[in-house]
Amino acid sequence: MRTKIIAGNWKMNNNCAEAVELVKELKAKVADAKCEVVICPSFTSLCCVAPEIKGTNIKLGAQNVHFAQNGAFTGEISADMLKSIGVLYAIIGHSERRQYFGETDETVNKRTIAALGGGLIPIVCVGEHLEQREQGITEKVVVEQTKLAFTGISAADAEKVVIAYEPVWAIGTGKTATSEQANEVCAIIRNTIKALYGDDVAAKIRIQYGGSMNDANAAELLGMSDIDGGLIGGASLKADAFAVIVKAAG
Ligand code: PEP
Repeated sequence: MRTKIIAGNWKMNNNCAEAVELVKELKAKVADAKCEVVICPSFTSLCCVAPEIKGTNIKLGAQNVHFAQNGAFTGEISADMLKSIGVLYAIIGHSERRQYFGETDETVNKRTIAALGGGLIPIVCVGEHLEQREQGITEKVVVEQTKLAFTGISAADAEKVVIAYEPVWAIGTGKTATSEQANEVCAIIRNTIKALYGDDVAAKIRIQYGGSMNDANAAELLGMSDIDGGLIGGASLKADAFAVIVKAAG
């Protein structure tokens, strides 16, 4: 049985005080969660939030991680830096990073390797654009992104990775993939992992759905056979809605 994982991607929202407020509200509401609960505030809020979640079931994630251990990479943050303040997860290759910040399958792979090497659990995002879905190449796109993300990664490391299937057309648009569409692609991703690493890793690896998941549609999506959790944007900024999603994963 795979433990479901619900992660909130706060994106570029909430200063330190606002982040602490949100966590204070959230703590009690998710205290009895049956799934893993992760919040990913902005880099500047990680240190403010860390003491607030100490001793709770909420885990800390970052929204990115650099592929080098240290050096002349102005503006970047390494896995070791994140680990040293209690971060356990790192979102890698979010479509907004691919779209606005030049992230490629190659840099996603490098960041994934660096995160694993630094003791973080990568949450690797893959997903097709609307035109790609309309052209009927969703499977090709997602299989390729998955294969490239895992290049050079051992089976022992691969099973720790969380994959987030996020159709780009569903992110922040209010257009959710149907539960069947989402499950179909998550199953394709699992089969890709099976082809790369075999049955055991494929059975263990967790695959989230992300894209306008909210308190109203979470239960149906999370009830699907190949969906092991959610990566939540907008709805993770509201404690009540996020808590309903966490409960739906239980
Ligand atoms: C995301 O940014 O990963 C995401 C899924 O956003 P939203 O839930 O707002 O669509």
